[in-house]
Amino acid sequence: MNVYDSAKMADVLAPHGYGLADSVDDADLVILNTCHIREKAAEKLYSDLGRLRIIKTARQALGKDLRIAVAGCVAQAQGDEILSRAPYTDLVVGPQSYQNLPELLAQAEIAGTRPAAVDFPEVSKFDGLADATQSGPAAFLTIQEGCDRFCTFCVVPYTRGAEYSRPVSDVVAEARRLVDLGARELTLLGQNVNAYHGAGDDGGAVSLAGLVRVLAEVPGLDRLRYTTSHPQDMTDDLIAAHGDSPKLMPALHLPVQSGSDRILAAMNRRHRADDYFRTIDALRIARPGMAISSDFIVGFPGETDDEFQATLDLVDHVQFAGAYSFKYSPRPGTPAADLDQVPEAVKTARLDVLQTLLDGQRDSFNRRAVGHTNAVLLERSGRHPGQLIGRTPYNQAIYVDADPDQLGTVVDVKITATKPNSLAGEIVGFKPPTETVMATGGVR
Ligand code: SAH
Ligand code: SF4
Repeated sequence: MNVYDSAKMADVLAPHGYGLADSVDDADLVILNTCHIREKAAEKLYSDLGRLRIIKTARQALGKDLRIAVAGCVAQAQGDEILSRAPYTDLVVGPQSYQNLPELLAQAEIAGTRPAAVDFPEVSKFDGLADATQSGPAAFLTIQEGCDRFCTFCVVPYTRGAEYSRPVSDVVAEARRLVDLGARELTLLGQNVNAYHGAGDDGGAVSLAGLVRVLAEVPGLDRLRYTTSHPQDMTDDLIAAHGDSPKLMPALHLPVQSGSDRILAAMNRRHRADDYFRTIDALRIARPGMAISSDFIVGFPGETDDEFQATLDLVDHVQFAGAYSFKYSPRPGTPAADLDQVPEAVKTARLDVLQTLLDGQRDSFNRRAVGHTNAVLLERSGRHPGQLIGRTPYNQAIYVDADPDQLGTVVDVKITATKPNSLAGEIVGFKPPTETVMATGGVR
Protein backbone atom coordinates (compact mmCIF):
# COMPACT_ATOMS: atom_id res chain seq x y z
CA MET A 1 0.00 0.00 0.00
CA ASN A 2 2.93 2.36 0.59
CA VAL A 3 3.94 1.92 -3.06
CA TYR A 4 0.44 3.00 -4.08
CA ASP A 5 0.44 5.86 -1.55
CA SER A 6 3.84 7.12 -2.76
CA ALA A 7 2.53 7.27 -6.33
CA LYS A 8 -0.52 9.18 -5.06
CA MET A 9 1.71 11.70 -3.28
CA ALA A 10 3.61 12.26 -6.54
CA ASP A 11 0.26 12.74 -8.36
CA VAL A 12 -0.94 15.27 -5.73
CA LEU A 13 2.28 17.28 -6.00
CA ALA A 14 2.65 17.19 -9.80
CA PRO A 15 0.32 20.19 -10.47
CA HIS A 16 2.40 22.19 -7.95
CA GLY A 17 5.59 21.92 -9.98
CA TYR A 18 7.08 18.82 -8.41
CA GLY A 19 8.40 15.91 -10.45
CA LEU A 20 10.31 12.78 -9.51
CA ALA A 21 14.06 13.33 -9.06
CA ASP A 22 16.59 10.77 -10.26
CA SER A 23 18.48 10.79 -6.99
CA VAL A 24 18.32 12.33 -3.53
CA ASP A 25 21.21 14.63 -4.46
CA ASP A 26 19.05 16.34 -7.11
CA ALA A 27 15.96 16.64 -4.91
CA ASP A 28 14.44 19.79 -3.37
CA LEU A 29 12.06 17.64 -1.35
CA VAL A 30 12.42 14.12 0.03
CA ILE A 31 9.40 12.26 1.39
CA LEU A 32 10.16 9.19 3.47
CA ASN A 33 7.11 6.94 3.37
CA THR A 34 7.31 4.76 6.45
CA CYS A 35 5.96 1.49 7.86
CA HIS A 36 5.23 0.90 11.54
CA ILE A 37 4.19 -2.74 11.41
CA ARG A 38 7.36 -4.06 13.09
CA GLU A 39 10.02 -2.27 15.13
CA LYS A 40 12.79 -2.87 12.58
CA ALA A 41 10.86 -1.04 9.86
CA ALA A 42 10.20 1.92 12.17
CA GLU A 43 13.82 2.20 13.33
CA LYS A 44 15.03 2.41 9.73
CA LEU A 45 13.45 5.87 9.56
CA TYR A 46 15.92 7.41 11.98
CA SER A 47 19.00 6.10 10.17
CA ASP A 48 17.57 7.38 6.85
CA LEU A 49 16.85 10.76 8.45
CA GLY A 50 20.44 10.97 9.72
CA ARG A 51 21.73 10.48 6.17
CA LEU A 52 19.34 13.10 4.78
CA ARG A 53 20.49 15.61 7.39
CA ILE A 54 24.04 15.46 5.95
CA ILE A 55 22.73 16.07 2.41
CA LYS A 56 20.51 18.91 3.65
CA THR A 57 23.45 20.63 5.39
CA ALA A 58 25.62 20.26 2.27
CA ARG A 59 22.88 21.76 0.07
CA GLN A 60 22.32 24.62 2.50
CA ALA A 61 26.04 25.43 2.33
CA LEU A 62 25.50 25.91 -1.45
CA GLY A 63 22.57 28.26 -0.81
CA LYS A 64 19.92 25.63 -1.70
CA ASP A 65 17.67 23.71 0.65
CA LEU A 66 16.27 20.22 1.03
CA ARG A 67 12.79 19.86 2.49
CA ILE A 68 12.37 16.64 4.45
CA ALA A 69 8.90 15.19 4.98
CA VAL A 70 8.03 12.00 6.85
CA ALA A 71 4.86 10.25 5.69
CA GLY A 72 3.23 6.92 6.50
CA CYS A 73 2.37 5.04 9.66
CA VAL A 74 5.48 6.00 11.69
CA ALA A 75 4.56 9.65 11.04
CA GLN A 76 1.03 8.84 12.21
CA ALA A 77 2.15 7.06 15.37
CA GLN A 78 5.20 9.14 16.34
CA GLY A 79 4.77 12.55 14.64
CA ASP A 80 5.84 14.64 17.64
CA GLU A 81 8.72 12.32 18.48
CA ILE A 82 10.06 12.59 14.92
CA LEU A 83 9.92 16.40 14.98
CA SER A 84 11.84 16.53 18.26
CA ARG A 85 14.26 13.64 17.65
CA ALA A 86 15.08 14.88 14.10
CA PRO A 87 14.51 18.65 14.31
CA TYR A 88 15.64 19.15 10.69
CA THR A 89 12.42 17.37 9.57
CA ASP A 90 10.16 19.96 7.91
CA LEU A 91 6.81 18.19 8.20
CA VAL A 92 5.10 14.94 9.12
CA VAL A 93 2.00 13.64 7.39
CA GLY A 94 -0.08 10.59 8.30
CA PRO A 95 -1.67 8.26 5.70
CA GLN A 96 -5.08 9.98 5.87
CA SER A 97 -3.76 13.47 4.97
CA TYR A 98 -1.80 13.08 1.71
CA GLN A 99 -4.36 15.22 -0.15
CA ASN A 100 -3.14 18.15 2.01
CA LEU A 101 0.54 17.85 1.06
CA PRO A 102 0.66 21.03 -1.10
CA GLU A 103 -0.75 23.17 1.77
CA LEU A 104 1.52 21.48 4.30
CA LEU A 105 4.55 22.25 2.14
CA ALA A 106 3.42 25.86 1.83
CA GLN A 107 3.12 26.07 5.63
CA ALA A 108 6.58 24.59 6.02
CA GLU A 109 7.94 27.52 3.97
CA ILE A 110 7.03 29.86 6.83
CA ALA A 111 10.07 30.15 9.12
CA GLY A 112 9.64 28.23 12.35
CA THR A 113 6.58 26.28 11.14
CA ARG A 114 6.81 22.50 11.00
CA PRO A 115 3.32 21.12 10.40
CA ALA A 116 2.17 17.70 11.60
CA ALA A 117 -0.96 16.32 9.91
CA VAL A 118 -1.90 13.21 11.85
CA ASP A 119 -5.67 13.54 12.32
CA PHE A 120 -8.23 11.16 10.90
CA PRO A 121 -10.28 13.67 8.84
CA GLU A 122 -14.02 13.27 8.45
CA VAL A 123 -13.83 13.64 4.68
CA SER A 124 -12.34 10.70 2.80
CA LYS A 125 -8.84 11.49 1.62
CA PHE A 126 -9.65 9.70 -1.63
CA ASP A 127 -11.92 12.61 -2.62
CA GLY A 128 -8.95 14.98 -2.50
CA LEU A 129 -6.34 12.82 -4.21
CA ALA A 130 -5.31 13.51 -7.78
CA ASP A 131 -5.92 11.08 -10.65
CA ALA A 132 -3.12 8.71 -11.64
CA THR A 133 -0.86 10.05 -14.39
CA GLN A 134 1.08 6.89 -15.16
CA SER A 135 0.81 3.13 -14.74
CA GLY A 136 2.81 0.02 -15.43
CA PRO A 137 1.23 -3.17 -16.85
CA ALA A 138 0.50 -4.37 -13.30
CA ALA A 139 -0.86 -1.68 -10.99
CA PHE A 140 -2.11 -1.33 -7.43
CA LEU A 141 -5.50 0.15 -6.60
CA THR A 142 -6.51 0.84 -2.99
CA ILE A 143 -10.18 -0.06 -2.47
CA GLN A 144 -10.26 -0.30 1.32
CA GLU A 145 -8.24 1.17 4.13
CA GLY A 146 -7.97 0.73 7.87
CA CYS A 147 -9.07 -2.19 10.00
CA ASP A 148 -11.64 -2.85 12.75
CA ARG A 149 -10.36 -6.29 13.74
CA PHE A 150 -7.86 -5.32 16.44
CA CYS A 151 -5.61 -8.38 16.41
CA THR A 152 -3.68 -7.98 19.66
CA PHE A 153 -0.24 -7.75 17.97
CA CYS A 154 -1.13 -5.25 15.26
CA VAL A 155 -0.79 -1.45 14.98
CA VAL A 156 -2.84 -1.08 11.81
CA PRO A 157 -6.17 -0.12 13.48
CA TYR A 158 -4.31 2.67 15.30
CA THR A 159 -2.23 3.99 12.38
CA ARG A 160 -4.60 3.53 9.43
CA GLY A 161 -7.78 4.06 11.43
CA ALA A 162 -11.24 2.53 11.08
CA GLU A 163 -12.26 0.43 8.10
CA TYR A 164 -13.31 2.46 5.09
CA SER A 165 -14.40 1.10 1.68
CA ARG A 166 -14.34 3.31 -1.40
CA PRO A 167 -17.58 3.46 -3.42
CA VAL A 168 -17.75 1.06 -6.38
CA SER A 169 -18.05 3.91 -8.92
CA ASP A 170 -14.78 5.49 -7.66
CA VAL A 171 -12.97 2.18 -7.87
CA VAL A 172 -14.27 1.50 -11.38
CA ALA A 173 -13.30 5.01 -12.54
CA GLU A 174 -9.78 4.56 -11.22
CA ALA A 175 -9.53 1.08 -12.75
CA ARG A 176 -10.55 2.45 -16.16
CA ARG A 177 -8.00 5.24 -15.88
CA LEU A 178 -5.21 2.82 -14.96
CA VAL A 179 -6.15 0.58 -17.90
CA ASP A 180 -6.08 3.62 -20.21
CA LEU A 181 -2.58 4.33 -18.89
CA GLY A 182 -1.44 0.78 -19.74
CA ALA A 183 -2.46 -1.49 -16.84
CA ARG A 184 -3.63 -5.00 -17.71
CA GLU A 185 -3.56 -6.36 -14.18
CA LEU A 186 -4.82 -4.72 -10.98
CA THR A 187 -4.08 -5.76 -7.42
CA LEU A 188 -6.88 -4.45 -5.23
CA LEU A 189 -5.43 -3.28 -1.93
CA GLY A 190 -6.68 -2.99 1.61
CA GLN A 191 -5.40 -3.79 5.09
CA ASN A 192 -8.40 -6.08 5.37
CA VAL A 193 -9.39 -6.10 1.72
CA ASN A 194 -11.93 -8.93 1.83
CA ALA A 195 -13.97 -6.96 4.38
CA TYR A 196 -14.66 -4.56 1.48
CA HIS A 197 -18.26 -3.29 1.48
CA GLY A 198 -18.27 -0.22 -0.75
CA ALA A 199 -21.46 1.56 -1.76
CA GLY A 200 -22.83 0.42 -5.10
CA ASP A 201 -24.70 2.63 -7.57
CA ASP A 202 -28.00 1.94 -5.77
CA GLY A 203 -26.45 2.87 -2.41
CA GLY A 204 -26.40 -0.75 -1.15
CA ALA A 205 -23.14 -2.34 0.01
CA VAL A 206 -21.21 -4.38 -2.56
CA SER A 207 -18.92 -7.19 -1.37
CA LEU A 208 -15.44 -7.84 -2.72
CA ALA A 209 -16.87 -10.68 -4.82
CA GLY A 210 -19.41 -8.21 -6.26
CA LEU A 211 -16.67 -5.70 -6.99
CA VAL A 212 -14.58 -8.35 -8.74
CA ARG A 213 -17.53 -9.15 -10.99
CA VAL A 214 -18.00 -5.46 -11.84
CA LEU A 215 -14.28 -4.93 -12.53
CA ALA A 216 -14.14 -8.06 -14.70
CA GLU A 217 -16.28 -6.10 -17.19
CA VAL A 218 -13.75 -3.25 -17.55
CA PRO A 219 -12.50 -3.51 -21.15
CA GLY A 220 -8.79 -4.22 -21.40
CA LEU A 221 -8.42 -5.42 -17.83
CA ASP A 222 -7.21 -9.02 -17.94
CA ARG A 223 -6.18 -9.91 -14.43
CA LEU A 224 -7.32 -9.19 -10.90
CA ARG A 225 -5.73 -9.95 -7.56
CA TYR A 226 -6.41 -8.66 -4.06
CA THR A 227 -4.43 -8.42 -0.86
CA THR A 228 -4.41 -8.71 2.18
CA SER A 229 -7.27 -10.83 3.41
CA HIS A 230 -8.40 -12.04 6.81
CA PRO A 231 -9.45 -15.73 6.92
CA GLN A 232 -12.71 -14.85 8.69
CA ASP A 233 -13.76 -12.53 5.87
CA MET A 234 -13.30 -15.24 3.21
CA THR A 235 -17.04 -15.45 2.46
CA ASP A 236 -18.74 -18.14 0.36
CA ASP A 237 -19.40 -15.68 -2.48
CA LEU A 238 -15.73 -14.66 -2.58
CA ILE A 239 -14.61 -18.30 -2.61
CA ALA A 240 -17.13 -18.95 -5.40
CA ALA A 241 -15.74 -15.99 -7.37
CA HIS A 242 -12.41 -17.83 -7.54
CA GLY A 243 -14.24 -20.57 -9.42
CA ASP A 244 -16.40 -18.52 -11.75
CA SER A 245 -14.41 -15.35 -12.43
CA PRO A 246 -11.58 -16.27 -14.82
CA LYS A 247 -9.93 -12.86 -14.45
CA LEU A 248 -9.40 -13.49 -10.74
CA MET A 249 -5.93 -15.04 -10.63
CA PRO A 250 -5.55 -18.45 -8.93
CA ALA A 251 -3.31 -17.17 -6.14
CA LEU A 252 -4.38 -15.96 -2.71
CA HIS A 253 -2.44 -14.51 0.20
CA LEU A 254 -4.33 -15.58 3.31
CA PRO A 255 -2.39 -14.87 6.52
CA VAL A 256 -2.99 -17.39 9.29
CA GLN A 257 -0.22 -16.25 11.74
CA SER A 258 -0.29 -19.43 13.89
CA GLY A 259 -1.51 -23.02 13.90
CA SER A 260 -2.30 -23.08 17.62
CA ASP A 261 -5.91 -22.45 18.62
CA ARG A 262 -4.83 -20.97 21.97
CA ILE A 263 -2.42 -18.53 20.29
CA LEU A 264 -4.99 -17.66 17.61
CA ALA A 265 -7.44 -16.80 20.42
CA ALA A 266 -4.80 -14.75 22.26
CA MET A 267 -4.13 -12.92 18.99
CA ASN A 268 -7.88 -12.19 18.70
CA ARG A 269 -7.93 -13.78 15.25
CA ARG A 270 -11.41 -15.21 15.93
CA HIS A 271 -10.93 -18.48 14.08
CA ARG A 272 -9.37 -21.87 14.78
CA ALA A 273 -6.89 -23.85 12.71
CA ASP A 274 -9.76 -26.08 11.55
CA ASP A 275 -11.69 -23.12 10.16
CA TYR A 276 -8.61 -22.17 8.14
CA PHE A 277 -8.33 -25.72 6.74
CA ARG A 278 -12.00 -25.65 5.73
CA THR A 279 -11.51 -22.33 3.91
CA ILE A 280 -8.45 -23.63 2.06
CA ASP A 281 -10.29 -26.83 1.08
CA ALA A 282 -13.23 -24.80 -0.26
CA LEU A 283 -10.87 -22.54 -2.25
CA ARG A 284 -9.08 -25.54 -3.73
CA ILE A 285 -12.38 -27.09 -4.72
CA ALA A 286 -13.51 -23.81 -6.33
CA ARG A 287 -10.20 -23.36 -8.15
CA PRO A 288 -8.06 -26.51 -8.26
CA GLY A 289 -4.33 -25.87 -8.17
CA MET A 290 -4.69 -22.48 -6.52
CA ALA A 291 -1.48 -21.09 -4.97
CA ILE A 292 -1.98 -20.26 -1.30
CA SER A 293 0.50 -18.06 0.54
CA SER A 294 0.43 -16.79 4.10
CA ASP A 295 1.97 -14.74 6.92
CA PHE A 296 3.24 -16.19 10.19
CA ILE A 297 4.31 -14.75 13.52
CA VAL A 298 6.57 -16.85 15.73
CA GLY A 299 7.19 -16.17 19.41
CA PHE A 300 3.90 -14.44 20.15
CA PRO A 301 3.84 -13.85 23.97
CA GLY A 302 3.39 -17.14 25.82
CA GLU A 303 3.91 -19.39 22.74
CA THR A 304 5.15 -22.79 23.95
CA ASP A 305 7.17 -25.36 21.98
CA ASP A 306 3.99 -27.40 21.47
CA GLU A 307 2.11 -24.38 20.21
CA PHE A 308 4.90 -23.60 17.77
CA GLN A 309 4.77 -27.25 16.68
CA ALA A 310 1.06 -26.71 15.90
CA THR A 311 2.13 -23.99 13.43
CA LEU A 312 4.56 -26.42 11.77
CA ASP A 313 1.77 -29.01 11.58
CA LEU A 314 -0.56 -26.48 9.94
CA VAL A 315 2.12 -25.63 7.37
CA ASP A 316 2.64 -29.31 6.70
CA HIS A 317 -1.08 -29.83 6.19
CA VAL A 318 -1.72 -26.87 3.88
CA GLN A 319 1.43 -26.90 1.67
CA PHE A 320 2.01 -23.24 0.89
CA ALA A 321 3.29 -21.78 -2.39
CA GLY A 322 5.04 -19.01 -0.46
CA ALA A 323 4.98 -17.15 2.84
CA TYR A 324 6.28 -14.28 4.92
CA SER A 325 7.25 -15.10 8.48
CA PHE A 326 8.28 -12.81 11.27
CA LYS A 327 9.43 -12.82 14.87
CA TYR A 328 6.80 -11.24 17.04
CA SER A 329 7.67 -7.55 17.49
CA PRO A 330 5.98 -5.72 20.39
CA ARG A 331 4.24 -2.61 19.08
CA PRO A 332 3.56 0.32 21.40
CA GLY A 333 -0.09 0.65 22.36
CA THR A 334 -1.13 -2.87 21.31
CA PRO A 335 -2.43 -5.32 23.96
CA ALA A 336 0.16 -8.07 23.33
CA ALA A 337 3.08 -5.69 23.92
CA ASP A 338 2.31 -5.76 27.67
CA LEU A 339 2.36 -9.56 27.97
CA ASP A 340 5.35 -11.73 29.01
CA GLN A 341 7.65 -11.97 26.03
CA VAL A 342 9.28 -15.05 24.52
CA PRO A 343 13.13 -14.77 24.66
CA GLU A 344 14.73 -13.46 21.47
CA ALA A 345 16.90 -16.59 21.02
CA VAL A 346 13.80 -18.80 21.09
CA LYS A 347 12.09 -16.62 18.49
CA THR A 348 15.17 -16.74 16.26
CA ALA A 349 15.42 -20.53 16.48
CA ARG A 350 11.69 -21.00 15.74
CA LEU A 351 11.80 -18.61 12.80
CA ASP A 352 14.70 -20.55 11.34
CA VAL A 353 12.85 -23.88 11.55
CA LEU A 354 9.63 -22.41 10.11
CA GLN A 355 11.37 -20.64 7.24
CA THR A 356 13.25 -23.78 6.25
CA LEU A 357 9.95 -25.65 6.06
CA LEU A 358 8.22 -22.86 4.11
CA ASP A 359 11.15 -22.40 1.71
CA GLY A 360 11.03 -26.12 0.94
CA GLN A 361 7.31 -25.92 0.14
CA ARG A 362 7.82 -22.85 -2.07
CA ASP A 363 10.64 -24.62 -3.93
CA SER A 364 8.58 -27.71 -4.55
CA PHE A 365 5.61 -25.60 -5.72
CA ASN A 366 7.94 -23.86 -8.18
CA ARG A 367 9.62 -27.10 -9.28
CA ARG A 368 6.25 -28.61 -10.13
CA ALA A 369 5.73 -25.75 -12.60
CA VAL A 370 8.77 -26.69 -14.70
CA GLY A 371 7.79 -28.07 -18.10
CA HIS A 372 4.34 -26.43 -17.98
CA THR A 373 3.23 -23.48 -20.08
CA ASN A 374 1.61 -20.51 -18.32
CA ALA A 375 0.21 -17.18 -19.43
CA VAL A 376 2.66 -14.52 -18.25
CA LEU A 377 2.09 -10.77 -18.10
CA LEU A 378 5.42 -9.10 -18.91
CA GLU A 379 5.65 -6.34 -16.30
CA ARG A 380 9.11 -4.76 -16.32
CA SER A 381 12.64 -4.88 -17.69
CA GLY A 382 15.10 -7.38 -16.28
CA ARG A 383 18.66 -6.69 -15.24
CA HIS A 384 20.10 -7.70 -18.62
CA PRO A 385 19.19 -6.15 -21.96
CA GLY A 386 16.76 -8.41 -23.79
CA GLN A 387 15.31 -9.75 -20.54
CA LEU A 388 11.84 -9.01 -19.20
CA ILE A 389 10.27 -9.98 -15.88
CA GLY A 390 6.68 -11.11 -15.67
CA ARG A 391 4.38 -13.03 -13.39
CA THR A 392 2.50 -16.27 -13.84
CA PRO A 393 -1.16 -16.50 -12.78
CA TYR A 394 0.16 -18.17 -9.62
CA ASN A 395 2.06 -14.98 -8.72
CA GLN A 396 5.50 -16.42 -9.48
CA ALA A 397 8.06 -13.97 -10.84
CA ILE A 398 9.52 -15.27 -14.11
CA TYR A 399 12.45 -14.13 -16.25
CA VAL A 400 12.24 -14.48 -20.04
CA ASP A 401 14.23 -13.32 -23.03
CA ALA A 402 11.89 -10.94 -24.84
CA ASP A 403 11.75 -7.89 -27.03
CA PRO A 404 11.21 -4.65 -25.03
CA ASP A 405 8.13 -4.05 -27.24
CA GLN A 406 6.52 -7.05 -25.56
CA LEU A 407 6.37 -5.23 -22.22
CA GLY A 408 2.75 -5.09 -21.07
CA THR A 409 1.64 -8.06 -23.17
CA VAL A 410 0.50 -11.48 -22.00
CA VAL A 411 2.56 -14.28 -23.53
CA ASP A 412 2.58 -18.06 -23.18
CA VAL A 413 5.77 -19.07 -21.45
CA LYS A 414 7.17 -22.57 -21.10
CA ILE A 415 8.80 -22.78 -17.69
CA THR A 416 12.32 -24.18 -17.97
CA ALA A 417 13.97 -23.72 -14.56
CA THR A 418 13.50 -22.56 -10.98
CA LYS A 419 15.65 -20.14 -9.00
CA PRO A 420 15.24 -19.44 -5.26
CA ASN A 421 12.58 -16.74 -5.66
CA SER A 422 11.66 -16.92 -9.31
CA LEU A 423 11.32 -19.01 -12.45
CA ALA A 424 12.95 -18.89 -15.86
CA GLY A 425 11.15 -19.66 -19.10
CA GLU A 426 10.89 -19.15 -22.83
CA ILE A 427 8.11 -17.55 -24.82
CA VAL A 428 6.19 -20.09 -26.88
CA GLY A 429 3.19 -18.01 -27.92
CA PHE A 430 1.46 -14.67 -27.83
CA LYS A 431 -1.89 -14.10 -26.16
CA PRO A 432 -3.97 -11.41 -27.86
CA PRO A 433 -5.70 -8.83 -25.66
CA THR A 434 -9.07 -9.95 -24.30
CA GLU A 435 -12.01 -10.10 -26.71
CA THR A 436 -13.68 -7.18 -25.00
CA VAL A 437 -10.74 -4.97 -25.95
CA MET A 438 -10.81 -6.11 -29.54
CA ALA A 439 -14.55 -5.55 -29.66
CA THR A 440 -14.10 -1.92 -28.59
CA GLY A 441 -11.18 -1.51 -30.98
CA GLY A 442 -8.70 -0.54 -28.28
CA VAL A 443 -5.18 -1.88 -28.23
CA ARG A 444 -3.45 -1.89 -24.88
N1 SAH B 1 -4.37 -7.69 7.50
C1 SAH B 1 -3.49 -8.78 7.42
C2 SAH B 1 -2.08 -8.46 7.86
C3 SAH B 1 -1.53 -7.09 7.80
S1 SAH B 1 0.01 -6.83 8.59
C4 SAH B 1 -4.03 -9.93 8.27
O1 SAH B 1 -5.02 -9.80 8.93
O2 SAH B 1 -3.43 -10.96 8.35
C5 SAH B 1 1.10 -7.85 7.64
C6 SAH B 1 1.76 -8.92 8.43
O3 SAH B 1 2.72 -8.38 9.34
C7 SAH B 1 0.82 -9.72 9.31
O4 SAH B 1 0.16 -10.72 8.61
C8 SAH B 1 1.72 -10.28 10.37
O5 SAH B 1 2.23 -11.56 10.02
C9 SAH B 1 2.87 -9.27 10.42
N2 SAH B 1 2.81 -8.51 11.67
C10 SAH B 1 1.89 -7.58 12.02
N3 SAH B 1 2.15 -7.13 13.26
C11 SAH B 1 3.25 -7.78 13.69
C12 SAH B 1 4.02 -7.75 14.89
N4 SAH B 1 3.68 -6.98 15.92
N5 SAH B 1 5.11 -8.56 14.96
C13 SAH B 1 5.47 -9.35 13.94
N6 SAH B 1 4.79 -9.42 12.80
C14 SAH B 1 3.69 -8.65 12.65
FE1 SF4 C 1 -3.84 -6.03 11.71
FE2 SF4 C 1 -4.77 -7.62 9.79
FE3 SF4 C 1 -5.51 -7.99 12.32
FE4 SF4 C 1 -6.39 -5.86 10.98
S1 SF4 C 1 -6.85 -8.02 10.54
S2 SF4 C 1 -5.63 -5.89 13.07
S3 SF4 C 1 -4.60 -5.39 9.72
S4 SF4 C 1 -3.44 -8.23 11.44
